[in-house]
Amino acid sequence: MPKFTGIIFLFVILHIPLAIADDRSSIEGQLSHYIMSQQQEQLLLLEKLVNVNSGTDNIAGVHRVGEILRPSLEQLGFKTYWIEQPSNMQRAGTLVAEHRGHKGKRLLLIGHLDTVFPSNSPFQHFERHGNLATGPGVIDDKGGDVVILYALKALQAIHALDGSTITVILTGDEEDSGKPTSISRKPLLEAARHSDLALDFEWAITQDTATIARRGIRNWEIKAHGNEAHSSEIFQKQVGDGAIYELARILSAMRTELAGELYLSLNPGLILGGTAIYNDLSESHGTAFGKGNVVAKIAMAKGDLRFLSSEQKISAENKITLIVGQHLPGTTAIVHFQDGIPAMPPTDANRELLKKYSAVSNALGYGLVKALSPGLRGAGDISHIASLVSANLAGLGPVGTGAHSVKETISVTSLPIQTERAALLIYRLIMIS
Ligand SMILES: [Zn+2]
Repeated sequence: MPKFTGIIFLFVILHIPLAIADDRSSIEGQLSHYIMSQQQEQLLLLEKLVNVNSGTDNIAGVHRVGEILRPSLEQLGFKTYWIEQPSNMQRAGTLVAEHRGHKGKRLLLIGHLDTVFPSNSPFQHFERHGNLATGPGVIDDKGGDVVILYALKALQAIHALDGSTITVILTGDEEDSGKPTSISRKPLLEAARHSDLALDFEWAITQDTATIARRGIRNWEIKAHGNEAHSSEIFQKQVGDGAIYELARILSAMRTELAGELYLSLNPGLILGGTAIYNDLSESHGTAFGKGNVVAKIAMAKGDLRFLSSEQKISAENKITLIVGQHLPGTTAIVHFQDGIPAMPPTDANRELLKKYSAVSNALGYGLVKALSPGLRGAGDISHIASLVSANLAGLGPVGTGAHSVKETISVTSLPIQTERAALLIYRLIMIS
């Protein structure tokens, strides 16, 4: 390849961001310049956070991660405090940082301090491999936490934080929330009630997408009962079909009636049936006793339901309840729906917020950003408060892959880019009068 082609190529790739970072007269240039100058420090902080184990059960570790971030937030003029959960919930608290002013949109920035990796996991350390780095929480969500911090630092550096109203919520139990969620999510809900817009900094799946919708989760459990009898009498009037056929009928009908619906998913994850079953729901396992020559007396299945709006959830629940109610002869069945996380539906206001983010990205020289398909990511903390604010945007953390696995990886170069985008988006939102 002739030498000049390489130079042109480099020019095309690097020209726009460098030009912006060099241009100190514009807000874009000032924010970019600050963030680019801090990228080593930001990455070192990420390494430090990742090297502290903060599996959800490791309450002390989660606290340590929060305490590392806390002084930097204080230095930016935020008032910080922990909201603890009752000790019987066995979860760390939520770190809250508040900046109170009177101008612009009131923003809620959401991250989390915990990871899915317990203290005995083999996956404990940050490791750099060129432009990639692996480690527990490197994208989920410590990468997002440092995006929040350095975006705010950049805004402070250009004196843009003055007068703004921003709440940062870093939960300590996003991965396995304390139950009931009415208590564990309370700090998040409270903050949302005093905010106009919510931004969530879990990782971006690709650099040209952000999340305007997340599916919600609802857990379900179905129990069927039949008449215990000799197997030779099954299907006869006085005995009926037995609990296992009843449960099989229900699951099969659920699949037939609901499997084709867009963004709805329905997964039975555990099934037990026989003469007797013994199960520990909290531990997700159980045993069953039964014989081929005895009609099944009891059967149970449990699973989850994922949906994109509360209307879709209610409609699916109603259909399931109807199916469960149409019993086979000699059987009964009941369904219970429990817990779960609400959906974050793709509203017009979310699309508008994404448009602003896309414009920000374009102004920084990083191209347009489009909506990620809601089928591609699960529920998260922002889902709990999506209905309490006027618009939501998620997936604003660094780009990466392999979350919840020992392959969790960050694209190192995406860290300053996502920080620049976040800083400029926040800037524009807090300047709106
Ligand atoms: Zn996660």
